[in-house]
Amino acid sequence: MSSSITNPDLHTSRTGFPADCEHFANVLADGVLFLDRDWRITYANDAARTISRILPEHLNGPSHWDLYPVTVGTEQERIYRRSMNERISLDHEFYYAPFNTWIALRTYPIPSGIAVHYRDITRLKEAESHRDLTARRLHQVFETTTDAIVVLDADYRLTFLNRRAQELLAPFGEVIGMTLFNAFPGVNYQDSPYIATYRRAMEDRVAGYFEAFYPEPLNVWFAVEARPTENDGGGIIIFFRDITEQRAAAEELRQRIAETERQAAEITAVYGTAPIGLALFDTTDFRYLRLNDRQAAFFGLRPEQIVGRTLTEMAPIPGLRELFEQVRDGKPVINYPLEGELISHPGEHRYWTVNYFPVYAADGSVQAISAASLEVTAQKKAESALLQSEKLAAVGRLASSISHEINNPLESITNLLYLISASDDLTPQVREYVDIAQGEIARVSQIATQTLRFHRQAAQSTFVNAEQLFAPVLNLFRGRLINSGIALETNFASATQVLCLENEIRQVLSNLVANAIDAMRVGGRLRLRAHDSHDPRTGHHGLRITVADTGHGMSPATQARIFEPFFTTKDLNGTGLGLWISSEILQRHQGCLSVRSSQHPLHHGTVFSLFLPLGVEKDPTN
Ligand code: ADP
Ligand code: MG
Repeated sequence: MSSSITNPDLHTSRTGFPADCEHFANVLADGVLFLDRDWRITYANDAARTISRILPEHLNGPSHWDLYPVTVGTEQERIYRRSMNERISLDHEFYYAPFNTWIALRTYPIPSGIAVHYRDITRLKEAESHRDLTARRLHQVFETTTDAIVVLDADYRLTFLNRRAQELLAPFGEVIGMTLFNAFPGVNYQDSPYIATYRRAMEDRVAGYFEAFYPEPLNVWFAVEARPTENDGGGIIIFFRDITEQRAAAEELRQRIAETERQAAEITAVYGTAPIGLALFDTTDFRYLRLNDRQAAFFGLRPEQIVGRTLTEMAPIPGLRELFEQVRDGKPVINYPLEGELISHPGEHRYWTVNYFPVYAADGSVQAISAASLEVTAQKKAESALLQSEKLAAVGRLASSISHEINNPLESITNLLYLISASDDLTPQVREYVDIAQGEIARVSQIATQTLRFHRQAAQSTFVNAEQLFAPVLNLFRGRLINSGIALETNFASATQVLCLENEIRQVLSNLVANAIDAMRVGGRLRLRAHDSHDPRTGHHGLRITVADTGHGMSPATQARIFEPFFTTKDLNGTGLGLWISSEILQRHQGCLSVRSSQHPLHHGTVFSLFLPLGVEKDPTN
């Protein structure tokens, strides 16, 4: 029955395929096309039409070689023809430039010709070539880097060494395939912190870094980085960067810094402790930028109290500013003697030797002024004192020769006057003149002996007590004491004998008594005492003698200067030498002379106190 016969047309497409086949072919992502023996396309599924841009009119129309002329003469044509002729299946991959497409195909012989099953593999190719490129580049990096790169698998086997690693490990022989532990047996793998880093990378998959020195045969400092690899079951990759030179450079730098610091500390110490004032000034207002303790001490201040203040404010010394201006113009001031007063110590004249230098900046301009000042006030004073004492010595020599020359004529005049006064036939008037002449001659001889004689050479030291020392002195002054209405009190509580140059000590006592008499022009009381004592400064035992008067006393200003040579309040009647000489004599005897004085209206007066050591310990003539 015809009705029972299925109409094939209902199920057959225009290609003559059963509809299911056609449908299946069209859902394939791969292209399928048929070529007949004249190379015409007889069938193309949807994918083929898309990939190969086949239009409906191309079916059963022009030959494949006309449609795709660039394929003529290529491997593709060769394959197609072989497949057609030899009835075999062949594979081929090629790039089809007009469509910028990579194609992978397989041919199948079919009764009408050949079928071609193919696929657009452009994406795949791109990915592949990208991978290739990456791998190539990586390889290049691995081979050219100066880092040594080693890959360990999960069993610590060395699976890869780049070129640098191979060079470095050459002395160890062939190590590829060996484990780390076998390849380098000398290493302590238990305790090494470096191996611990590898283990952490391997087992905990944590990257680690360390720097270490690798001894013979390498002798290299490495910065080592161990990273877990991202694939193949848990190995690690280790990068070794040679940092020997950096380490050396860093070490050198460290040493240089240490050396610089040491030098700086030295300079700072010298700066701080030098017995020279050091300072740095700016060049605009000459302000203190920096100064050391010694420089600040000139002002009795601390450095921080002076920084920022100007030179002229601190030391208003005429000409100083001009000196600084000269230095600012590039002319140093060398060993210049400077003198004047500082703002902090008005009235005090001081001396310095100064050196001022310009401090140059890199561009050659003067950026600061350095100043080094050595205070020489004490030396100056010593110098002038020396000058003074040289003058004195000259005066002394002159005086002693004069005294020597005068003594003899004085003695004969004294004797002659005595003879005259002893004569009976003198008128009262003449007797009075003779008395005056005798008094005046006594005075002259006193001057000659008491003020000039002290320059005589010292005699031998002798043992004397206080009474023996005073007796001749009192004899000498008895007349004057009476004339001046001065009451004398003596209290020699000690008979202790001291070893001394007795005439020198008498000289001292007579100076003290003479001064006391001078201070009591209107009368008073002179009290002389002696007692055993000891010097609180040295602990020496000895004799203390005091000469106390009830005279007019001294002001503190006078007291401060009485031991200076030539200091006198008596104008032409005084030499100002008595106390100076007395203190010198006592110094020679290792004794001392001190004074207390008052000008109080009710209890005025002066007490000189002198101490003489027993003198057995040391002979003052030595
Ligand atoms: P001079 O007696 O020649 O002045 P001195 O050196 O002996 O020299 O004394 C220095 C000064 O000390 C005296 O001028 C006087 O001002 C003061 N002086 C010394 N002794 C006394 C004293 N006992 N009382 C008051 N002033 C004294
Ligand atoms: Mg005197």
